[in-house]
Amino acid sequence: MLPAGTYEGATVLVTGGGTGLGKAIAVEFGRLGASVAVASRSPEHRAAGVAAVEAVGSRCVGVGMDVRDPAAIAAAFDLVEDQLGPVDVLVNNAAANFPVAAADLSPNGWRAVEQIVLDGTFFCSQELRRRAAARGSEAVIVNIAATQAMTGGPGMAHSAAAKAGVVSLTKTLAVEWAPDGIRVNAIAPGLFPHDDMPAAIRAARDESVDAARQPAGRVGQPHELGWAATWLCSPYASFVTGHVLVVDGGNWLRRDFAMPPFRPITDQLPR
Ligand code: NAP
Repeated sequence: MLPAGTYEGATVLVTGGGTGLGKAIAVEFGRLGASVAVASRSPEHRAAGVAAVEAVGSRCVGVGMDVRDPAAIAAAFDLVEDQLGPVDVLVNNAAANFPVAAADLSPNGWRAVEQIVLDGTFFCSQELRRRAAARGSEAVIVNIAATQAMTGGPGMAHSAAAKAGVVSLTKTLAVEWAPDGIRVNAIAPGLFPHDDMPAAIRAARDESVDAARQPAGRVGQPHELGWAATWLCSPYASFVTGHVLVVDGGNWLRRDFAMPPFRPITDQLPR
């Protein structure tokens, strides 16, 4: 969609860029000429992200980082700056999630998801802003949210609350940091199965059934999120900030004419 070389000379850091949607986003930035940093905890994940970006002909480095740890984030930004140059685009994609009824959710499970999704997004964003402001450079952030941020998420109270926090943060930071030349947007993906999902989840999914449940008649393809992210962060969206772009084939807006019988979430979760 975007002209070749749109990101020539730019450095893009993708948290959780070694798997699934983060990897697909990293690849689309690489395809458009960006130097890409893939930041996450697992060396295997990072190596997969680096290989995928290099396969489309761009420079890529993997950098170890836990998004819950501000000191580790600062060290990772230092390393990326040394190897690729200052970060111009930050994609806050790292997340964790698991289905559970709110009544059964442990304090540790709750804290882990809040800390990775919400704290991690804030800490990484603050680090980017601090460095960009010190250089007097413009920068762009895109946060990967979820439509549960708007609807709530029965069976995923922790993730839905954290993503709602990410959407709120996106709007706040867009206003606070616009005078610094930093745009902050979010993408809310719908259903995007991918090969890096745990085997148990992949085995439990049937793509034709999932497709039939979507208004668009199909699930999302990971590169479509990469297209959305590369557009939002590009000069072609230079006046867009504080926006949440839903990429879900219309699914979050669906309503049946006559609603189906209600089933409590505890009846729907695997036992
Ligand atoms: P995924 O494959 O599980 O990727 C999550 C990534 O986050 C992993 O690469 C993981 O890498 C990284 N990560 C987890 N904890 C981390 C931490 N503490 N520090 C640094 N990195 C960490 O998930 P996905 O399906 O691609 O989802 C990507 C994004 O899209 C997430 O924000 C998710 O909420 C959102 N989303 C996905 C869907 C979907 O259908 N797939 C739908 C809606 C929203 P390490 O293990 O190496 O740290």
